[in-house]
Amino acid sequence: METVRDYFGSLVFDDRNMKATLPAKVYASLRKTIDEGTELDISVANAVAAAMKDWAVENGATHYTHWFQPLTGITAEKHDSFISPAPDGGVIMEFSGKELIKGEPDASSFPSGGLRATFEARGYTAWDPTSYAFIKGKTLCIPTAFCSYGGHALDKKTPLLRSMEALNVQALRILRLFGNDTAKAVRTNVGPEQEYFLVDKKLYDRRLDLRLTGRTLFGAPAPKGQEMDDHYFGVIKPRVAAFMEELNVELWKLGILAKTEHNEVAPAQHELAPIYTTTNLATDQNQLTMEIMQKVATRHGLVCLLHEKPFAGVNGSGKHNNWSIATDAGQNLLSPGETPYENAQFLLFLCAVIKAVDDYQDLLRISVATAGNDHRLGANEAPPAVVSVFLGDELGAVLDAIENDTPYQGAEKTKMKLGVHVLPKFNRDATDRNRTSPFAFTGNKFEFRMLGSSNSIACANIMLNAAVAESLKIYADRLESADDFESALHDMIKKTISDHKRIIFNGNGYDDAWIKEATEERGLLNYRTTADCMPHLLDKKNADMLIGHGVFSQAELRSRCEIMLENYNKSILIEARTMLEMARTQILPAVEGYAAKLAKNAGKIRALDEGIACRYETDLVKKLSALTDGIEEKTDALETAVKGLCTDDVITESAMIRDALLPAMEALRALCDEAETLTSKDFWPFPTYAQLLFGV
Ligand code: ADP
Ligand code: MG
Repeated sequence: METVRDYFGSLVFDDRNMKATLPAKVYASLRKTIDEGTELDISVANAVAAAMKDWAVENGATHYTHWFQPLTGITAEKHDSFISPAPDGGVIMEFSGKELIKGEPDASSFPSGGLRATFEARGYTAWDPTSYAFIKGKTLCIPTAFCSYGGHALDKKTPLLRSMEALNVQALRILRLFGNDTAKAVRTNVGPEQEYFLVDKKLYDRRLDLRLTGRTLFGAPAPKGQEMDDHYFGVIKPRVAAFMEELNVELWKLGILAKTEHNEVAPAQHELAPIYTTTNLATDQNQLTMEIMQKVATRHGLVCLLHEKPFAGVNGSGKHNNWSIATDAGQNLLSPGETPYENAQFLLFLCAVIKAVDDYQDLLRISVATAGNDHRLGANEAPPAVVSVFLGDELGAVLDAIENDTPYQGAEKTKMKLGVHVLPKFNRDATDRNRTSPFAFTGNKFEFRMLGSSNSIACANIMLNAAVAESLKIYADRLESADDFESALHDMIKKTISDHKRIIFNGNGYDDAWIKEATEERGLLNYRTTADCMPHLLDKKNADMLIGHGVFSQAELRSRCEIMLENYNKSILIEARTMLEMARTQILPAVEGYAAKLAKNAGKIRALDEGIACRYETDLVKKLSALTDGIEEKTDALETAVKGLCTDDVITESAMIRDALLPAMEALRALCDEAETLTSKDFWPFPTYAQLLFGV
């Protein structure tokens, strides 16, 4: 029988395949490009292309595509076949280095936020050798970056790679200061935990809102929700287990280290976590994972919902971005070391992250901002929209001791002096108890928990990498010119702690009292919606930092702000229109039909004996009729709000959507949900929450 070891990575042109199929010199040169970012010359590209094509054809591929991540948030591909006519009338399979390195998709329909006028349709894709090519169906997919002809990034990968490089440059400066002359590169690693819902496809098909918007826009709460806490880690149902099994096989073939799977808190909610890998690869793999989840689900008569808030009243879905920094030699720079020197270095990297999160709270919030995720952040479940850092008591006490020059009250009871003392060993499990923090230190990595389930993890990691690169740059500038390295280091760490301790919070992040303290006493930012935060992408402080590290150009920032707001506006507008249609053509007729039936029945009953009151029918008809009147009114109000949105400026429009459209949608929903609780199931036009949440 074929075992996982036999087929793991069988659809990936990974290191094993490269080594096996490439001439040694070509392999060495490609490896250098992957590990150290050196330029690739065309002869190497030709050799790689030929080997890649032979391997792909052997594995059933007929086509190739440059696979990229435009700003739509999903991936894009355009397939070309390998075939080329041969003189004898047959065909040969061809693929050149040039085709591998560069593609020219007709890109006019991808969002560019004004970077590429539609008449300038050309964009180009460029091979990213740091992410392995893979086969999907019959197509060899080559991960690429996507740019305009003017060189502006039109995708999420390009700035991600730039941010990784920025962090690499600054982190290496720090390592050299600590006497590390051997590290060649510093990379960030990510393990994204992916949450999702599974619902029955037949039920899904009967809900226009789910089909068009990915979430339910109506729906009274089910009699049972998540209050029994009986779903989390519960026994996995056979149909879901079959889905997970097939999903794992598909992911393993693609070299994705799917590792953990379990039921989540809400009914019908589940989670999948892979083993962490380089951020760039993790980003590509998470996009693939989401795509394959959806594909595999349909094979099991299921639909995989990746929306952040498919159901009101039960938990939404997020994505935990577990993030760490490591050298090419595998040293985790967020792991406390064995010697005082390693500890000082660890504390410096830790401080760099704390400072970065405090200085760029807004960028982190922006990096996870979508219409869907706004339903989680700020609601009573996911981390709040206020960014804070959880360190745990032990590490918190160490930092306190350093800041105040007081003895550390841990095992050693000594004054912490950097360069002298070994940090106490952390109990890793002890640091991971807080589940409400948006940004938690978990022993040797940070877990950024604000991402939405459908988000590309690229955005969050771009901002995180860039912001930490900025902290490290400031540190390196100071330390490189210091006369006494150790005392400069000590002072800098101390100063970081006192300047940025406001961002550290170990308590319950869901608590209203915290939001009050955070915003009123600590001055932390609280951007509740995408409309609130997104314009701050262009704030001078943010633009200076991102441009300074070469992560974005000014034009790219402007375009991204525009695109993100456009996405926000369009998705909510589609939701509003879907609600109008459902209310008018499904809900109102259903409620009215039921009321009419009740009235007719009451008439029939009274005809039997005039003394019968028919109080039940009469009262219910009155209630239903009042509700249909109300629903009509709220429907008209929503339509007016939709029509009122005529502006060319996305920022103004997003504010109108936040202030007028969303409340009008909520008001309409409230009445419709009430009507649902009073209307006969025989009349209700689409599946209810109870059916959807407990229907698998
Ligand atoms: P949790 O308690 O959140 O489930 P786990 O230890 O199971 O924590 O890890 C969750 C995710 O974190 C996994 O994807 C795992 O691979 C990833 N992870 C573990 N160590 C690191 C690290 N050093 N850097 C980045 N991600 C990591
Ligand atoms: Mg986790």
